Amino acid sequence: IRATGRPRLVGRHAGDGGVHPMRIGVLAVQGAFAEHMAILDAIGVEGVAVRLPSDLEDVSGLILPGGESTAQRRLIDRWGLREPILGLARSGAPLFGTCAGMILLAREISDGDATTFQLLDVAVRRNAFGRQLDSFETNLQVPVLGDQPVHAVFIRAPVIERTGPAVDVLARLDDGRVVAVRERNVVATAFHPELAGETRFHRLVATMAAEHDDPGEGSGRRPHPTRRAGLAR
Ligand code: GLN
Repeated sequence: IRATGRPRLVGRHAGDGGVHPMRIGVLAVQGAFAEHMAILDAIGVEGVAVRLPSDLEDVSGLILPGGESTAQRRLIDRWGLREPILGLARSGAPLFGTCAGMILLAREISDGDATTFQLLDVAVRRNAFGRQLDSFETNLQVPVLGDQPVHAVFIRAPVIERTGPAVDVLARLDDGRVVAVRERNVVATAFHPELAGETRFHRLVATMAAEHDDPGEGSGRRPHPTRRAGLAR
């Protein structure tokens, strides 16, 4: 299954023998979730606004949007979302955090703020660009997404100050600071790709979700049956 073009990404197999479109949740307790829903719609994935644990039941992945990470953390706990989100991550479903969402995923927050999910072995510093440069936009090379640069919007953005051995760096600023990473099923960016209409991160997450739903596809966890049989596809 490829997340290319406009046709709907086919997701899990429904009980009636058919298939329904893939669903990806967007945490909708606070912050900029609407833009992520719009990008998912543009790539043919059904976005599910996640406010209650039951909203997570039928999703194949979850996006954690930008906003204010401290407010998001409190609301996650008030609404009982912490354990179900950890469960989704442990199942191997992809999680994608942008900006505040990345802070929620981090193992460590340099300025001592409380952590939330600790699913990503990085240390982040909040509001790393200071008052002089609250917001800025720049073009970034993100080799896993192809040659065309990503137009990245930074808004009171964090930066990644340490990456663990299992973390892949996906993008750096010109000065070398790390602003996008992946560790297994967890992807995070310090910036907002969704605000510039960038769809490739969401396509990557949708592809990871499809592989999670059907591990035979792509580079999943078990060999595809035809490959196991030594047959070319
Ligand atoms: N400054 C915010 C925080 O520390 C993040 C900003 C954003 O998500 N755009 O939580």
